[in-house]
Amino acid sequence: MNDLLSKLNPEQLSAVQTTEGYVRVMAGAGTGKTKALTARYCYLVSELGISPANILTVTFTNRAANEMKARMRSILGDADLGFISTIHAFCTRFLKEEIHHLGYPKNFIILDTEDEREMLQRIFADMKITLRDTTMQRTIDQVLEAKKFTPGYISGFIQISAEELQQCIEKEKDKNNEIFLRYLYEQKKNYGLDFNDLINFTLYILENFPDAREKWEKRIEYVMVDEFQDVSEKQYKIARILSGKHKNLFIVGDSDQTIYSWRGSHVRLFLDFDKKYPSAKTIVLTENYRSTPQILRMSNELISHNVLRFPKELNAVRPNGAKPLYFHSKSPKDETEWIADSIQTLVKQGAVLSDIAVLYRSHFLSRGVEEILIQRKIPYRVLSGVSFYERREIKDVVAYLRMLTTQDDIAFLRTINVPSRKIGKKKIQFLKEYANANRISLWNALLENQDSAVFKGTNIQNYIHAINTTKKSIADKKLDDILDEVLDLSGYTEFIRMDADQDRLDNIAEFKQNAELAAKDPDENLETFLSRVALYGNLDKEERKNAVKLLSIHAAKGLEFRFVFVTGLEEGVFPSAQIETAEEMEEERRIAYVAFTRAKERLFLSENEGGGSANLSKFPSRFIFDAGEHNLEFVRPLPDDLKKKALQHIQQDTERLELLQNLLFVGDRIRHAVFGEGTILEIDAKNSSYVIQFDKLETTRNLQFTAKFERL
Ligand code: ATP
Ligand code: MG
Repeated sequence: MNDLLSKLNPEQLSAVQTTEGYVRVMAGAGTGKTKALTARYCYLVSELGISPANILTVTFTNRAANEMKARMRSILGDADLGFISTIHAFCTRFLKEEIHHLGYPKNFIILDTEDEREMLQRIFADMKITLRDTTMQRTIDQVLEAKKFTPGYISGFIQISAEELQQCIEKEKDKNNEIFLRYLYEQKKNYGLDFNDLINFTLYILENFPDAREKWEKRIEYVMVDEFQDVSEKQYKIARILSGKHKNLFIVGDSDQTIYSWRGSHVRLFLDFDKKYPSAKTIVLTENYRSTPQILRMSNELISHNVLRFPKELNAVRPNGAKPLYFHSKSPKDETEWIADSIQTLVKQGAVLSDIAVLYRSHFLSRGVEEILIQRKIPYRVLSGVSFYERREIKDVVAYLRMLTTQDDIAFLRTINVPSRKIGKKKIQFLKEYANANRISLWNALLENQDSAVFKGTNIQNYIHAINTTKKSIADKKLDDILDEVLDLSGYTEFIRMDADQDRLDNIAEFKQNAELAAKDPDENLETFLSRVALYGNLDKEERKNAVKLLSIHAAKGLEFRFVFVTGLEEGVFPSAQIETAEEMEEERRIAYVAFTRAKERLFLSENEGGGSANLSKFPSRFIFDAGEHNLEFVRPLPDDLKKKALQHIQQDTERLELLQNLLFVGDRIRHAVFGEGTILEIDAKNSSYVIQFDKLETTRNLQFTAKFERL
């Protein structure tokens, strides 16, 4: 223990030894916040003799929790570590003990987004809603948003029984309300809790059942929260209630690393901690132990472009290293080959694969990297999410292609009812028995029985037609056209479009682009393409310890690696094309800051002019320029005209974002220097102007978006 403490600097030591009361550690990336928190836990247990069962430690990801536990075990030995987990995992444990207060069984189920989607799909089918005017994802979002924000929802929902809900559904006239009620009914009937519910139910019990509250307040003597800048209001409330009796709440965070504000976390909570608790002690750490001065300098310069921030000191402790390396390429292939080359060079120089991480902004970007690593036989692990060819929509698409070649039973079962063609278990069973009896494939069994009464009222003709028609033209068509044809005819394109999940759409777009590329190769045909894809999809999934790590930036939060690659640094990808306001751009920049500050020794940045995709811009990311060109080493210089155009594009986009940020909405009240106060009546997007009724004027006025108003 003494050894552990001697390794800390005086500020960290103070964070560890100020065990009582409200304490906040505010400090930049890599300054040893998590290390201090871990040491504090060990100090509480081994010096103060606190039982781990009385300490609640909240981390942001399961990975971070596991890493923390491993560090603690290495110090404390094989102890029971109590509650060290994400807030959701803690709530699950809490609810296992307490949910009986709400009439739920201990073995309630936890619904992930996939389950929610399926539930809603069933509801739509029951209500015979065709998803023309409303999209699936939007509805899911609406349902979840409504649940989050409807005042009294949670108490109303908890108190109402499934039977009562059913009566409400019968009386409900509004379709959207009905969807919402049915969703709640399904949840209630199955005792299912989604991720928000875990938080909501916990809070509800703590607020409404004094006995339960007292028991937990008494039990939890110390609360410690890592990555506090991304904690939501409700999560904060849980931490406050649990620390209400013993009043020991320790929080650490970095406001420059807030990357979930869209999920309802507010950096305000972190910054206002001392207002809430005037006795709170704030500790600031300024030494960065993680990264070389070169990495730190460019990261600091990047984040200094954010307006909404509190500048802070951050000094590198490590010795000098090399400047971050930046590679501009013209094609995805060039980019990923450069990544693989660089990895192999690092290994030759003595690095082990597990020292290397490849980070990306969006999951679809992992495909190119995965393929090159497979080709070069470089072991890798995808640490966040599912590897590209394992993703549901990609498996569906591949199965449709297989229905044009092998027509195997697995591909058949995957596609026959996606989108829904009213082929349920019984009909599948019928086909299976027929196929077994006649020793034929399920597909042939379907063909032989297509006119049978069994399939009356189903939509199998569309399926058969899609496959047979596309199959006929395989020989004369390009691979990407074949793909489009079978997906369009079968209704899969429409199905996925209705789903409107951006990740899925991106993944399919990425797959299509891959097919387009393959189509350009004269040696490639549908069969060779499929066997290549099968190879990528069937990797052995054994946990490989010595492997390159692939993960999204969000999943990399709090972690560090000797060598970090950040891919896809182009406008429209990172920053994402979906950014609509200057504020959202600042969040995007914080995501880049999190990415860059994961690196200890060297950072590798790359981009490929938008991957040749028509709808993406071809410019290097603004974050490259924000980080300061003088802070980077260019593998080859950016062509002058490209740089000029890129800067122009960035300038224009910045203006667009500022405009959108300040945009007013119908009903907003404003004050104008000459016309006085008025109300926005209409927004005339075509002419970039507002139609305004000023209180003292009789007629309305049109004024430019850029006109100067004061918002009231
Ligand atoms: P982030 O903001 O990214 O979560 P952090 O502030 O939590 O970063 P840590 O992960 O705790 O930082 O520490 C970063 C690195 O610095 C780790 O490798 C850690 O072991 C090392 N470190 C922290 N404090 C010290 C210290 N006093 N002496 C030497 N190394 C330290
Ligand atoms: Mg940390």
